[in-house]
Amino acid sequence: ACQHVRPGYVVHDESYRRQRERARRIELALPQAIERREPYMVFQPVTDGRSGQVLAFESLMRWRTASGEVISPADFIAIAEETGHILALGEMALTAACHTFMRSDVCAAFPEARVSVNVSPRQLMETDFVATVRQALAASGLPARRLALEITESAFMDDPDICIDRITQLRALGPAIYLDDFGTGYSSLSYLTRMPIDVLKIDQSFVRGRTDDASNLRIVSAMVQLARSMGITPLAEGVETARESDWLLALGCVQHQGYLYARPAPIEEHLAAALRPAGT
Ligand code: C2E
Ligand code: CA
Ligand code: CA
Ligand code: CA
Repeated sequence: ACQHVRPGYVVHDESYRRQRERARRIELALPQAIERREPYMVFQPVTDGRSGQVLAFESLMRWRTASGEVISPADFIAIAEETGHILALGEMALTAACHTFMRSDVCAAFPEARVSVNVSPRQLMETDFVATVRQALAASGLPARRLALEITESAFMDDPDICIDRITQLRALGPAIYLDDFGTGYSSLSYLTRMPIDVLKIDQSFVRGRTDDASNLRIVSAMVQLARSMGITPLAEGVETARESDWLLALGCVQHQGYLYARPAPIEEHLAAALRPAGT
């Protein structure tokens, strides 16, 4: 995270220095971690808020170091993006997601569920990224319609035209395109009409604990209407309470992701939950 270093504040300074040291350690450890295949994927369901049916799973990366510590993507994805290691990590994520969702036990429990993979701006800008996705699909046998690629608005900042062209090519292969973290940081309303996307992910900062905020209600309502008017499916992140779920349903947003339904977890946990009789 961006820090303002205020020289007068010793404590603040100290935590900033420690944070930089940690970032440096992570940077140095990443190449070997990738070689040892220490990063692994967990999955979080996207649920139909009306029926409770699981529609999809988002793949989220974790890193378990040799010492057993689990590092959150918040602590290493940005660093990997800067150093270029995100290319290897991103390929690992894509391959793991495709293979996991072709496993017979996963297909038996969730035959139609999609799996989405986060794609960093740097990956999207790689000239061979379309080929990488094609190969991951071919090698796993996953039907392309069961894959989704999550792209953030920030990807559009550098070169919107290349970005739109790339997404058009990816979509032509068959995967769905999700626009991630919608509403944060960059104004993409002008791009939205030009972007070939299927699902708009409303960022959790508009959802979690925000149901009593009247101006927030107007914003989320406008996002949902905008998406629907363009034939794009709205999906809300950060749904933690039944109240938030009901609020979203009233606004016309049916696809929900969040702790109310399930936390990100190894696929085995979701398989066990799916096999358990309802209510136990
Ligand atoms: P994201 O793509 O926006 O992922 C959603 C984040 O929200 C996840 O954090 C998830 O655990 C968290 N979350 C989901 N539901 C709730 C909820 O109800 N309440 C709260 N408080 N949080 C919730 P996570 O797993 O720590 O990932 C953080 C970010 O790291 C992701 O944000 C994504 O930007 C990045 N990331 C994770 N895995 C990958 C990856 O494989 N590749 C790339 N490029 N980025 C990744
Ligand atoms: Ca995401
Ligand atoms: Ca998101
Ligand atoms: Ca996010």
